[in-house]
Order: sequence, then structure tokens, then C-alpha cells
Amino acid sequence: MDLDLKKSTALEIAKAIQERKLSSPEVTRAYLDAAKADFEKAPGDTTKINAYASLGEEAAMAQAQAAQKRIDAGEAPSPLAGVPVALKDIICTTEGTTTASSKILTGFRAPYDAGVVDRMRAAGLVFLGKTNMDEFAMGSSTETSHLGITRNPWDTARVPGGSSGGSAAAVAAGLAPFALGSDTGGSIRQPCALTNLTGVKPTYGSVSRYGLMAYGSSLDQIGPMAKDAADAAALLAVISGKDERDSTSVMEKPFDFSDINMKEIKIGIPRNYFGMPGLADDVKACVLGAAETFRALGAKAIDIDLPLIDYAVPTYLIIACAEASSNLSRYDGVKYGYRSPDAADIHDVYYKTRSEGFGTEVKRRIILGSFVLSSGYFDAYYKKALQVRGLIRAAFDKALEGCDMILSPATPTVAFEIGGKIQDPIAMYLADIYTTSVNLTGLPGLAAPCGFGEGGLPVGMQLIGRAWEDGRLLSAVKAYQGATDFHKRWPA
Ligand code: GLN
Repeated sequence: MDLDLKKSTALEIAKAIQERKLSSPEVTRAYLDAAKADFEKAPGDTTKINAYASLGEEAAMAQAQAAQKRIDAGEAPSPLAGVPVALKDIICTTEGTTTASSKILTGFRAPYDAGVVDRMRAAGLVFLGKTNMDEFAMGSSTETSHLGITRNPWDTARVPGGSSGGSAAAVAAGLAPFALGSDTGGSIRQPCALTNLTGVKPTYGSVSRYGLMAYGSSLDQIGPMAKDAADAAALLAVISGKDERDSTSVMEKPFDFSDINMKEIKIGIPRNYFGMPGLADDVKACVLGAAETFRALGAKAIDIDLPLIDYAVPTYLIIACAEASSNLSRYDGVKYGYRSPDAADIHDVYYKTRSEGFGTEVKRRIILGSFVLSSGYFDAYYKKALQVRGLIRAAFDKALEGCDMILSPATPTVAFEIGGKIQDPIAMYLADIYTTSVNLTGLPGLAAPCGFGEGGLPVGMQLIGRAWEDGRLLSAVKAYQGATDFHKRWPA
């Protein structure tokens, strides 16, 4: 088989490995070489995608050889055995570093593997390295990384989205067949939408958070970022499942990825989502076009009410920042990574380490989170946000009584320019208008390609489903991708 790094899907690669047309070390080497060529470009080089935070060359080749041995012995551990994958720099592995792309975790080596890593090792997947991200997953553009910005392979003057922008850029640029991201308020879906990929924020509790550095614990989920729905499903099947080490892991039975009859599917279209002031015409047209395609496939597309969208971003920010302010208190210069070299006493260690180790956006969120949790403001902000969260969940549950899935834009615009929003946090936060409520509800949401807008840049739709129906969402997209070819286009 000819290995086209950009176009080959993970499942195609897996099949070629099983049929002995390619070997795992061969494939791994090819992706590592491509990733390395980009990684070694100078920081100022505007052709540098900067998808990776670190590469694990030696470990990857050893894993590939081990996987190949098992395959050659006729004991392929899973359908994805021998296929390489990239991991967001927030998912702990015992080899290499895991730094959340933050200065404060410079050089940090995790003492244990994340739950998803255990599962991927058992399945025989090979880890290429860690992908760049917004520091501690706080951002929508991968511009807050301590390791420099990541560029969008579709237009290197634009952002790849965030916070899992490195994972998205790696897959879109052919530097990994697929990748894992994490999604607290849209960090898988938004970068997938901006780089023409298919990605899932799974039902809360289906994928272990053990070994995922915590941002907003009640919102965080790890999920796949892939070239199509079939690849995303294959990877989600590997990483999902109960893990005793995560007390919020509650999955009872595996997802059902079997094909669905689109004639039995009712798709709800929240009209108000399409009347939002920030929604660009090109995005709106592509997503409404997707509704037509679903109709042509036999689905019913109906208008629905889905109130409270204006509250999604503020509610999300209050809750996410509150949780982050607590989660990030562990980075104190004593236990992990960076310690300020010129601290005089223990208080100075805390103060200077955190002042020097965290970037502006992270500090802003810690301050905001501490504020909404502080006595006197707790009732007005944090408690109120929890109440609104309950209302948002109820609104989604009610909407999903009348339909099987909800179709919306994933993002209000196509990829924006580097530097375009980073000075204006409110504008940046509003880019998450369509994704944040899904995390507040715990429901599954995915993003998938549905056309091209301004400047030929990709547009993504979002599909939101009932809890535990992640498989059905992906099957609907599989049907859609059988009838369209947007997902088969690659950046030049
Ligand atoms: N972009 C959102 C934020 O800035 C979501 C981040 C995420 O999902 N990790 O918080």
C-alpha cells in the first residue's frame, strides 16, 4: 500500500498492517519523520505548524516493533494494532514529558499512565508524542501555549482552534493518523471544525479522566480527533469504558456503533442557534446544507426550541474557572515541574513559582475562579451558575425527548487569524458559544466537516445526542460521510 500520510485513515493503515502491506515500524517511522521535520523548524518560521509539544521517537519505535511482533505472531491485540496516534500534552504517559504546554510543568515526567493510555497500550497503539495546546486547556486558539502558537494547516496565518489545536493540526497536516484531545468547553469539537476533522466529546463518565490533568473536573472528557467518523468510532471504542480509578467513570456497557437507519432518525434544528448575531453566513449556509443532506438520507429534520444559549458561556466560565482555581492549586513549585530559582522562603516559592510559571490566561482564570468561590460572592456567582447549569441540562433533555439528535454549528465562524482575538478574552470566549452547553449537560457532542466557507476554509457542524448514544451520533455522521466528500479534502 502507498502510505499517503495526509489521506490514509487510521483504519486503512490498520488494514494494510494486518494484510502485511505495511508494517507498524514503517508507518510509525514515516509519521515521526514528517512530525520531526516540522518540529525542527525554527520557532519564527511561518511554515512551521508546531503541532507537537514533544516527540517520543525512541519509545514510539520500540512500541511499533513490539506491536509488529504480536501481529506477526498472529495475536493482533485490536483492530487498531500497530497504528500510531498523537496525544494531547495533558494526558499522562510514563515515557516522555507531559506539561499541559505550561512553563510550570517544564520537564514534568508523569509517574503513571492515564486510564486511556492503559487501554491504548493494550490495543497495541503506538504513541508518536504529545501535541501542543492552550496552556492547561484554557483557550480556543492554541495561542496561550508556553511552547509557541500552532498554525492551521489550511492557512498558516490562522489558528487551528483550541485548546486541542496541536492534535487537530497534527492530523490535518498528516503528522499523525488520528489523535486524542480533551474537551471541557469545546476543545475537541472547535479545533476539529476549524481543520476539517471529525471529533467527539463523549458522554461524561464514559472515558476515564484518570491521568488527565484536571481543568474543570465536572466538564472534562478525553475524546478522539480523526479524519472521519469510522476512525473516531474505532478510537472511541478503545478508550471508553469504566475505570475504578476515576470516581466519575460510570460506563455500564460499551457504545453501540452499529449502522443506523436514517429514516428512523429525527434531527432537531434549534432555530435560535442560527439567528445568533455572531454567526457567519458561510457557516450558517453549510450547516443548514447538512440538514438538507440528512433529509435526503431519509432523516426527519424538524425545528425545535432550545432556550438559554445566552447563558452557556458565562455559566461555563464560572464553573470551569471555579474548578480550575482549585485544581491548579497543586502547582506550587514543591511537587511538580518548575520552581522559581530565586525564592527566599516557602511563601516566596509559591508566589514566585506561580507568578512566573503560569501564563496570563491561566492566571486570569484562577483569579476569576477564586473570586466566584469566595465568601460573599459564592451565592451570587458559583451557586447561581450551578442552578443555571441544571436548567440548561433540563432544556436539552426536553429537546431530546422530541428528537434523536440536535444539529447546530460547531463554531460561529471559520478559523480566525492568529492574533485576531488573543487581546480580547471576551471575543475569544464567545467563539465557544455552541460547544460549552454540551459539557455543562454531560451529553455527547461531535463536530464533523460539512462544507467550506470564506477563503476555502473548513466549516464544521455539531451533532448533540442523548447520554450514552455517542455511537449513534457517529453512525449518523458515517451515513452523512457516505453521501458527501467534504471530509476527504486536505490542506495543500
Ligand atoms: N475554549 C474553551 C475555553 O477556553 C474550552 C476549553 C476546553 O474545552 N478545554 O475554556
